[in-house]
Amino acid sequence: MDNLKKMIRTVPDFPKAGIQFYDITTLLKDAYGLRTTIDRLTELIERPIDTVIGIEARGFIFAPALAYRLGAGFVPVRKPRKLPAETESVSYELEYGTDTLEIHKDAVGNGHRVLIADDLLATGGTARAVVSLVERLGGQVAGLAFVVELNFLNGRERLADYNVSSLLRYDS
Ligand code: AMP
Repeated sequence: MDNLKKMIRTVPDFPKAGIQFYDITTLLKDAYGLRTTIDRLTELIERPIDTVIGIEARGFIFAPALAYRLGAGFVPVRKPRKLPAETESVSYELEYGTDTLEIHKDAVGNGHRVLIADDLLATGGTARAVVSLVERLGGQVAGLAFVVELNFLNGRERLADYNVSSLLRYDS
C-alpha cells in the first residue's frame, strides 16, 4: 500500500491552521493509482451489496466506481436543498457548529444492504450521521468504505457496531 500512500499529498494548514489535509487528487490523476484504489477497496467489501451511498462531495468520486464493481446501485447523500424530491435529513456536530446532510426518502429499499463510501474517515461524525439516515429509511448498513483512515482520530470507535473497511491508514 506504500506505493498508493506516496501518491497522496499532505497539505499543512488547509483549510485552516492546524489541519493536515490529505489530498487525494494526486492519487486520482494517476491511472495506476485510481485503478488500484478501486480494485483493492472492492476486495475488502463483504458482498452482496444492493446500494452504495456516496457522501458529497469526495464520496461521489469513489462510490459509483465501487457500485459498478459490486453490481450495486449508487445513491448520493447531499448537502441541504440540493435533492429535488422528498428528503430525510440529519444534522450532526462539527468542531464548530453543525452540518446537515440529506437523502431522498425513496433512495433505499427496506432491508437493502447498503455500503457507505467516502474518501476519508476522520472523527467518524459524518459517517455516523449517514448511518442513521440509512437506518431511518429501513436500510441495513452492511459496511462503510474509506480510502484513507486517520487512526489517531478514532473514527472507527464511533462505528464500532459496523463493518469498517479502509485502504490507507495513518497513525499521525
Ligand atoms: P469526520 O466526520 O471527522 O470523519 O470527517 C470526514 C469528512 O471530512 C470526510 O468527508 C473528509 O473528506 C473530510 N476530512 C476530514 N478531515 C480531513 C483531512 N484531514 N483531510 C482531508 N479531508 C478531511
